[in-house]
Amino acid sequence: MRLPELEALLDHAYLRVLGGFHPGPDDGTPEGCKTLLLLGPDEPRFWPHFIQTPEYRDDAPNAMDRWSLRVVEECAKRIGAQALFPFGGPPYLPFYSWALKTGRAHVSPIRFLVHDRAGLFLSFRGDLALSERIPLPSPESTPCATCAGQPCATACPVRALTPQGYDVAACKAYIRSDAGRDCRENGCLARRACPVSKTAGRLSAQSAYHMQYFIKGSP
Ligand code: SF4
Ligand code: SF4
Repeated sequence: MRLPELEALLDHAYLRVLGGFHPGPDDGTPEGCKTLLLLGPDEPRFWPHFIQTPEYRDDAPNAMDRWSLRVVEECAKRIGAQALFPFGGPPYLPFYSWALKTGRAHVSPIRFLVHDRAGLFLSFRGDLALSERIPLPSPESTPCATCAGQPCATACPVRALTPQGYDVAACKAYIRSDAGRDCRENGCLARRACPVSKTAGRLSAQSAYHMQYFIKGSP
């Protein structure tokens, strides 16, 4: 199977390949995996589809993870691959390292991963571990190297994102406050400030959905 055929299959599932690599023995991929493909939502058409799915409409928790399990497993079965997921731990699979291995995601000045197409809205819904080695496109260089002013680094009103780390408590306190309404309803200002994020097709409703889950957690 070649990448374009796989992409056509994923297109029907409202997913897209966000990158891939050919694992070595130290990459923590399943035995016999010759190509690992990382999958994310195909935005912006993903969200209008997702809110019509049984998982979203049954009002039970973790709708997006349950949708991902069903859909990525179905895709894997159709091509004889193994499905892997970034949730369900601990232990968790090393999606962060795998994303870097693809060469399409890079560490940004605020330490979140920035992707050549999804920008700072990078999110993984699962992986496909293939037993065959398929050709992959050459990776892109980081968009941060040519980003004028690097606006992600200064966009957070409470400076919760710095090169030293992410102050989760300060971020959540702000999002829950009246002043944090824009982050709460439209998504993280720092992620939105990235010029790559601006072309990623992320809809505010999807960001608001993730924010609701985020602020429900502790602290
Ligand atoms: S969601 Fe808002 S408060 Fe939190 S890091 Fe992003 S910009 Fe800062
Ligand atoms: S705003 Fe610029 S520096 Fe920040 S992640 Fe996006 S491309 Fe990189």
